[in-house]
Formats: sequence, structure tokens, C-alpha cells
Amino acid sequence: MYLIPIPAFNDNYLWLLHDGKRALVVDPGDAGPVQRALDEHALQLESILVTHHHADHTGGVDALREATGAQVWGPGAERIPQPYTHLKGGDTARALGLEFQVIDVPGHTAGHIAYYAPEVNGKPLLFCGDTLFSGGCGRLFEGTPAQMLASLDKLAALPGNTVVCCTHEYTLSNLRFAMAVEPGNAELAAYQAKCIRLREQGMPTLPSSIAQELLVNPFLRTRQATIMQAARHFDASAHDDTTVFAAIRQWKNQFK
Ligand SMILES: [Zn+2]
Repeated sequence: MYLIPIPAFNDNYLWLLHDGKRALVVDPGDAGPVQRALDEHALQLESILVTHHHADHTGGVDALREATGAQVWGPGAERIPQPYTHLKGGDTARALGLEFQVIDVPGHTAGHIAYYAPEVNGKPLLFCGDTLFSGGCGRLFEGTPAQMLASLDKLAALPGNTVVCCTHEYTLSNLRFAMAVEPGNAELAAYQAKCIRLREQGMPTLPSSIAQELLVNPFLRTRQATIMQAARHFDASAHDDTTVFAAIRQWKNQFK
């Protein structure tokens, strides 16, 4: 299987997975770049997987469905372009001969789902939409901090070698914030230096892995003493899992 991040808009990645003949695409906000990639590699688009309803994740669905006849899978609890197969946590989406387990991850949007395949090219593979970013997490547009923390806990519990396909190149700005929260984290400093080099070469910083994120992502590390302390500096009332997470998320929203 080949895994390709197709850049779109300012900083989106539309993930394409293909076996040389058939392809699936995740969250095609724009049909044009996906169609060009299909043409370039002579691929038949078999499936479209959608994680949530935002336009930069769904804007190309209708055009691609019409052009290719691809089957569309998406969150049953959200409004995305019809017709599509409605999914909820615990369901399975079948594409390219793979079985993707559907995980409910509300927070960024109310019905956001993620897709997890236990083995692709020898490793687990995760398409997490706007829930988990490298070094960060999605903004809470429709959910509560408690919901988002529970969603991130589910993703953090996946195997460390899980290949994590995030949908935005937000890594460098996320890591600048992460360094403000945890200036003494040596793993974080090393990862930041690596990502800066990648961006200087015009390369994506993604995919990441769950093990990498557990070392550097403040939103997966809110139970660490250093992070709890930093959260209390920002908001003295932060005292438990949820309020520490909420304080870090609020701090990030204001961080310049
Ligand atoms: Zn979104």
C-alpha cells in the first residue's frame, strides 16, 4: 500500500491510500488535487472516508463521487453530502480490502469519527481528522474539554507504532506552543528541530506516530506533573484531568 499526503488549501492534507490500482481518500475538501493524483498514478477511486462535516474536509466529496462512483463513508451523526454510508463508533468501514474500525472522537465537532486499521504495511494506521494533530489537537467547536480529553485518551491508547495521519500541517506552530508549556522536555526539543528541518526542505512533518505524540504533545500529556503545573500558572483553578486539559486548550487558543 502507498500512503500519500496530498496538499490542499493552505495547510490541509488529503490522505490517499492506494495499492497501485485502487485508492481511497480521506476528507477530500477539494476534488481537484485528488483527481490529479488519481490521474497521475492511473488509480480508480474506490472509497471516500470522511471524519467530520467541515467544508475543508467534505468540499470535494460530490465531485469525486460523481466522477468515480466511489463509495462514501462518514459520521452518521453529522451532515455531510448525501448519499453515504452512516457510521458510528464500533462500526467497520471496508475499503481496499482493509477493515477500518470506527472510533467516536467527539470534541472538535459533535459527531467526529476516526478510522483505524490494525495492519497496513505491517503497522496500524489511523486517520484522525481534526481531532489529533502532531503536537496539538483540534479546537473545541462543538464539544466540551471532557469529551475531547476522552476522545484523545482513546487515540493515545492505540499501539505506539500506529501511523497517525493528521489533516493539517500545524506541527511547527503546535510545537512552539508545546515548548512554552514544557520548556524542559528534551524529546520535544529534538522533535521540533527535526520538524523545522523537514519544513525547510518542503517536506510534510506527517504522518506521526502515537509513541511520538505521547512524548511531545501537551494535549496527550495533561497528567504529567510538569504540564499540570504549567496549566495552573495559566489558570489557578485547574486541578483535575478535565480542568488541566481545558486550561491548556484555552492557553493555546490565546498563544501567539
Ligand atoms: Zn474541522
